[in-house]
Amino acid sequence: MRVPAEARVDLAAIGDNIGLLREHAGGAEVMAMVKAEAYGHGLVEAARAALAGGASWLGVAKLAEALRLREAGLTVRTLVCLGVPGEPYEEAVARDVDLTVGAVWLLDEVVRAAERAGRQARVHLKADTGMSRGGACGADWEALVGAALKAEATGHVRVAGVMSHFACADEPGHPSIAAQLGAFTEMVAHAERAGARFEVRHLANSAATLTLPEARFDLVRPGIAIYGLTPVPRLGTFGLRPAMTLVADAALVKRVPAGRGVSYGHTYTTREATTLAVVPVGYGDGIPRHGSNVLEVLAGGRRRTIAGRVCMDQFVIDLGDDRLSAGDEIILFGPGDLGEPTAQEWADALGTISYEIVTRIGSRVPRAYPGRAL
Ligand SMILES: *Cc1c(COP(=O)(O)O)cnc(C)c1O
Repeated sequence: MRVPAEARVDLAAIGDNIGLLREHAGGAEVMAMVKAEAYGHGLVEAARAALAGGASWLGVAKLAEALRLREAGLTVRTLVCLGVPGEPYEEAVARDVDLTVGAVWLLDEVVRAAERAGRQARVHLKADTGMSRGGACGADWEALVGAALKAEATGHVRVAGVMSHFACADEPGHPSIAAQLGAFTEMVAHAERAGARFEVRHLANSAATLTLPEARFDLVRPGIAIYGLTPVPRLGTFGLRPAMTLVADAALVKRVPAGRGVSYGHTYTTREATTLAVVPVGYGDGIPRHGSNVLEVLAGGRRRTIAGRVCMDQFVIDLGDDRLSAGDEIILFGPGDLGEPTAQEWADALGTISYEIVTRIGSRVPRAYPGRAL
């Protein structure tokens, strides 16, 4: 069935991007970060493609995401990176999901869940090395390490990993990068002196995987780069291939006279008699409303700027005298092969990051996986 709009995801590109990241990772394992519906690409499909490409771990933010991967039959090592109170940790332990623990209260919760499940929980200690978001630092780190090793001695917990996260890895040379790397090394050394025997130490996101070999340790955790978008726009694309192409079929094409105000607020006015096309996606589908009169799309082989305000379900483009018919495909963004903008170009035009462009494409837009073996 033909749909008026879809996000086409090139799973082969995801596999290729993992291959490229593996080269940068040296001998380190690759944990594919598939949180937030794999940055909008589809959790399970993207996870399978990443594993086929050579990733050996999956990473998510929330426990519910990990459980969905298990439901889909993916049994690979999977880490939940965000710890919040009151989650069904017993189920996490029963389904063999690795948990990130950045505070003693959370460790206690996981230990109780492991007792109830009658099974050992696997945890990764989260060090706050300078991001000042999740994780423990200073005396809290020492307390967390102590509590974790004590819990390990009871057999309820295996302290399998230690991790941290960069604040500014997308700005190579930023002084915080070396500071965080140094802090991580020290905090890991402290834990190992206290008796920790980590299976995996991990710190690198996409930007660090591609630009900072010292940060690889045993495992790297790329996200955005898997989907083919650069984590460091000013250093180029690193040879990554964007996986998502967002398309919509023109819903209506019509001639209007000069001097017509277009869409809510009439922020665009036709200069001369012209052809308008209605594109059936809007901010209800994740097209940023800030993109009104700003974002470009490819229609009939030519770039056209969105004319007037992006509405909830649709927006308008001005085609001039170009011919287009209702049902003709318009490419909003993609890898750029046909001259369409990339998600990075949309992000630049809006003062945001490509992550937000692809991740916010809503559930009303079906994901399609062309070329996938059925
Ligand atoms: C999202 C995330 C990553 C991946 O970050 P990218 O910049 O997309 O590569 C890595 N680690 C953690 C803990 C994350 O939450």
